[in-house]
Amino acid sequence: MNQILYPGPYTINNRPIILKPWTVNFDFNKEFPTKIPFWVKFSKLPMSCWGKGSLSQISSVIGVSIYADECTAKQTRISYARMLIEVNVTKPLPEKIVVMDPTGNKFEQEVFYDWKPKFCPKCSMVGHTCTKKMPQP
Ligand SMILES: [Zn+2]
Repeated sequence: MNQILYPGPYTINNRPIILKPWTVNFDFNKEFPTKIPFWVKFSKLPMSCWGKGSLSQISSVIGVSIYADECTAKQTRISYARMLIEVNVTKPLPEKIVVMDPTGNKFEQEVFYDWKPKFCPKCSMVGHTCTKKMPQP
């Protein structure tokens, strides 16, 4: 399962395929899942933040970290760290997050997504965004 799940994201005709580990209570008839695992890139992440603990702490700002890709885990490619994170797509995804390195310095870290699902807050549905503006509260 992991050999299939981790090399993603996959697309067919430029449409993303969402892969999720099966769970016992999974139900096809229920509404579309809102917690979706996808790959997130942290480019130019300082080396001091590449520990397993640091990476999962940084990822926790965005969602629940599932897996670091092999190059990230082995630190064989240091231009960016890449993590598979389960994200709640009903919440806005940050483009930047504030990270504190082990010496206590805070810095802004850019966040890149291989693919970002569309979420329509008006219809509470994944897959599109309504063009009409929501009424302001
Ligand atoms: Zn909509």
